[in-house]
Amino acid sequence: MRCGVDVRCGVDVRCWAAAAQPGAVAESGAVAQLALSRAAYPDLVFFIFGYGTKQQHLGAGLTRTCPRCHNTTQWVRIREFKQFSVFFIPVLRWKRRQLEICTICSTAVDA
Ligand SMILES: [Zn+2]
Repeated sequence: MRCGVDVRCGVDVRCWAAAAQPGAVAESGAVAQLALSRAAYPDLVFFIFGYGTKQQHLGAGLTRTCPRCHNTTQWVRIREFKQFSVFFIPVLRWKRRQLEICTICSTAVDA
């Protein structure tokens, strides 16, 4: 494909500049468009973000009688927080709280 300005033209930004001038050969339109998109996005940069509620098990809690299912069992203590991560690395944590959860019906109370 000849762009009419530079015979050696492949996919080149200089070719786009030359093809934009009046009098350029119509055949170089596709090449000029590709060169324009390359000029608009010189490097592709991406980020991987994560957001969610995380839970950490802290072991056994107190022996309680559940207000919902009325069973008396040993509850489980957990820590819960909201977390924001970049490239799977935790960056921010907020709304931290400790809970105790009924092992039968999963009712939670603040510990
Ligand atoms: Zn329960």
